[in-house]
Amino acid sequence: MSFILGLTGGIGSGKSAASQWFESQNIVVVDADIVAREIVMIGQPALAQIQQAFGDWVLLENGELNRRALREHIFADPSARKTLENITHPAIRSSIIQQLAKAQSDYVILVSPLLFESKQYQLTHRTLLIDASEELQIERASQRDGQNIEQIKSIIQAQMPRIEKQKLADDIVLNDGHLDHLYEKLKTLHQKYLALSKKQS
Ligand code: ADP
Repeated sequence: MSFILGLTGGIGSGKSAASQWFESQNIVVVDADIVAREIVMIGQPALAQIQQAFGDWVLLENGELNRRALREHIFADPSARKTLENITHPAIRSSIIQQLAKAQSDYVILVSPLLFESKQYQLTHRTLLIDASEELQIERASQRDGQNIEQIKSIIQAQMPRIEKQKLADDIVLNDGHLDHLYEKLKTLHQKYLALSKKQS
């Protein structure tokens, strides 16, 4: 099995920017957010299970998942949320495991905003936190998404506090400068991960 790096960070910290840099070095990146969308696509077993558990209203006319309706339904109902997670989490996990196993690169990265919260870190050998101050997170995420500052703040509030992630991560990159500065720091870590992956194989 190849060496698996877990990559995480709060919203706007620079996870995607870091992932893209690793991809430019021919490292395969499995994105947990993308997997979460894939497993509820038309024809996937998890979508049928969600329909069975909640009813036909969870589907749009074209058969796709009505994400907004489902989100609103589970928002204030912890037991409905649990029902949904009992369907989606195992499906996400097994798809991530499959994609990591078939990846062909010197090592492989699992990027997830909820790496620590969801215990996905248990699938990895080492973790890297892309870290940034809350001010920078808000500035970058609002420029990227056009979301308002209150929405971004509430997402930050719902995520594991930065300090907790710092305690759990094996490596931390503070992304507080130019992108070139981030890439320089990643270059050093990339060499370290190549060495670790060689040692393991
Ligand atoms: P995340 O995936 O963690 O939510 P992104 O990688 O998408 O964050 O970064 C958020 C935004 O900030 C993106 O538009 C990205 O290009 C930009 N960004 C990230 N790091 C830097 C940096 N060091 N300097 C300037 N812009 C950055």
